Amino acid sequence: MDEHSSKRLQTPILLYIGSSGRSAFSVVGRHFLLVLRTGTYWFIVNPKSGSSADVESVRFIRDYLRQRHQPMRLKLTRSLAHAGELAQEAIGAGAAAVVVSGGDGTVRTVAEAMAGSAIPILILPAGTENLLAQELGIDGSRKTSLKMLENGTVRKLDLGRANERYFMAIAGVGFDAQVVRRINQFRSGHITHSDYIWPICRTFWEYGFPHLRVEADGELICDEPSLVFVGNITRYAVGLPIHPYADCSDGLLDITIYRYRRRRELLLHSLRTVLHQADRSRQVSRHTCKEVTISCPEADVPVQLDGDPGPTLPLSIQIVPAAARVLTPPPPPGRAYHPPVRFYHLRHCLCG
Ligand SMILES: [Mg+2]
Repeated sequence: MDEHSSKRLQTPILLYIGSSGRSAFSVVGRHFLLVLRTGTYWFIVNPKSGSSADVESVRFIRDYLRQRHQPMRLKLTRSLAHAGELAQEAIGAGAAAVVVSGGDGTVRTVAEAMAGSAIPILILPAGTENLLAQELGIDGSRKTSLKMLENGTVRKLDLGRANERYFMAIAGVGFDAQVVRRINQFRSGHITHSDYIWPICRTFWEYGFPHLRVEADGELICDEPSLVFVGNITRYAVGLPIHPYADCSDGLLDITIYRYRRRRELLLHSLRTVLHQADRSRQVSRHTCKEVTISCPEADVPVQLDGDPGPTLPLSIQIVPAAARVLTPPPPPGRAYHPPVRFYHLRHCLCG
């Protein structure tokens, strides 16, 4: 066997040997090796998330596994807490993998319940933003889902722990968290981007300028009116590059601080961020650390974790390195990981 053939045969096996300790493989069509984990695939599906296209995506993967005689269990969530309970049930049963269909909140809850487990999570994005899925190159298409099942890479991701609650993508303190708080006051099911318009407008006119005190690894980095993001991925809602240099596997938290005392400064920050020009402003600073504390003695400042209401201040956030394992699409030649999905929202507007 020549060196090139040897690499082709070894790579998929090495990618999949891990949690269950056993793997199966066979020759199928163009794919020289089809590797499926032995054991039961657990589906955790949030019925409040997603459109009919997202339901079809779950059916497609379920039928694909059924045709290959893979044992499965499919559970619908009744709440976010129930999603966590189902994930713990899957761990107890020694699942081969956990397939999660839902938004960032559902994925976060499952990852939190599975923190430290070697069982991989396969994400079928079905939320409004799907921030983590975008970051990992998961676009929700059947083609990508199949790639993850057949040749995917198991990537170890860091989690953020904020006052004993976990997040995978981003925590926001201030303006955006107030928008999340408002939208959750009337939310009853799946929400779209248009649902955010009124809460954003109302928050823009009513929200004040809370004085935030931020310490990163014990060093004071901000003590003035500001908007603070702590995250582990590069982009936030509608693709805003809030943490353009973040790496979700580097063992560090990324912090971006927007200082502002007037509403027009908030607008300018938004515009500069959209245009990838935020680094040119002296009112914007970026930091990396392993632990950050945020406090505000003067007001009730809201916090959001991955788009859901979070704990109240004071907030203590630590990085939990390599706490979650997620199946991602195979990387292109020469790269360690698949790059983020570009123009995610535009694609879904055009393709459904
Ligand atoms: Mg990081």
